[in-house]
Amino acid sequence: MNTATAANKPLFDAKRIREDFPILSEPLDQGMRLSYLDNAATTQKPLHVICASDDYYRHANANVHRAIHALSQRATRAYEGARDRLVDFLGAGSRAEIIYTRGTTDGINLVAQCYARPRLKPGDEILVTELEHHSNIVPWQIAAEATGARLVVVPVEDDGSVTQAAFESRLSDRTVIACIAHISNALGTVLPVAEMIAAAHARGVPVLVDGAQAVAHMSVDVRALDADFYVMSAHKLFGPTGIGALYGKRELLEDMPVYQGGGDMIETVSFEGTTWNELPYRFEAGTPNIAGAAAFGAALEYLDGIDLAAVAAHEHRLLEKATAAMAGIDGLRIIGTAPGKAATISFVMDGVHAHDIGTLLDESGVAIRTGHHCAMPLMTRFGVPATARASFAMYNNDEDVDALIKGLESVARIFG
Ligand code: PMP
Repeated sequence: MNTATAANKPLFDAKRIREDFPILSEPLDQGMRLSYLDNAATTQKPLHVICASDDYYRHANANVHRAIHALSQRATRAYEGARDRLVDFLGAGSRAEIIYTRGTTDGINLVAQCYARPRLKPGDEILVTELEHHSNIVPWQIAAEATGARLVVVPVEDDGSVTQAAFESRLSDRTVIACIAHISNALGTVLPVAEMIAAAHARGVPVLVDGAQAVAHMSVDVRALDADFYVMSAHKLFGPTGIGALYGKRELLEDMPVYQGGGDMIETVSFEGTTWNELPYRFEAGTPNIAGAAAFGAALEYLDGIDLAAVAAHEHRLLEKATAAMAGIDGLRIIGTAPGKAATISFVMDGVHAHDIGTLLDESGVAIRTGHHCAMPLMTRFGVPATARASFAMYNNDEDVDALIKGLESVARIFG
């Protein structure tokens, strides 16, 4: 367990961090070492998180909020304690601004249905960029289709960046909301979200930031960014699957109709009329993912002891090392070279299908992702059906990079 406080972060120790993640030292078949480079899809979990889930079921399992017995109080403490941690982690103004969701996708759908849809009229515009994950495209298409609004797309440059100028030029008097990734899952591009938010606000346009890829790699302060909505998933942040968080500015959330109806989101129910609970519970209908929240809180507690700036520097060194070595592999082309990008490398190899690259690397214990990365419009933009993607996290090391490069050299030899 990591007990250091945020104000007193220990030096970044990649070796020790790696040891905190049991799956990373578990050999694969035939005793092969695992090089896990699929972190943009999901991250591994430290023992602290695994134990928090186990502890919850062993020692605290009960429903939250509705009972006064000891176990229910424990469960409620775990559930609400994790919310308090989220307030600190994201820099939110209060607990009312943190809503538990099933993850990033769920958070975006909530905002699309409850914030955007009631405001959208025929001809209105929803701004997205060309590099968005399907989760930050399709919910807006659904809202647009229901209201006669349309999506306006900010183009991606050849290096994978999205410029401030391109963003500003697509804002218009019809823009109702702008929806932008903080970091691209497919390319690693870091978007200048603070500047984009400022430009959108200058025109009275609120901004939703998809933070799924950002939270594990940089410190995020939603109030410093002045984001109106910020969404994330616990599983990309060394936490469990099935839970995430939506940050929303209180005044915007107060003004939104409810999402789903059911237990916990009401104040009183009668057949004459039902009244809603206060924030954030108004948006949390039904028995929530309590064990998930307990483990989510443990992930944040774990991260509290880790300096995210040092994590970013460590990942950047691995990125540079891998990028330099990949430049020497015949027929390999990296897609996405934006300055200051995060530690994700998307690439293609002449004459080799991305899935074959993935399969061959897997044979030597190197786990990468291949496919469209839920960003089909972006693949179309670069004229490829799929890429192979290696994505790094704080527990990766030089051995992982060496295994990746060795595997790619052997792919090049086989197909060369
Ligand atoms: N946006 C981005 C940028 C992502 O990387 C992902 C996950 N790959 C999502 C949204 C969707 O997250 P989830 O599946 O956890 O809802």
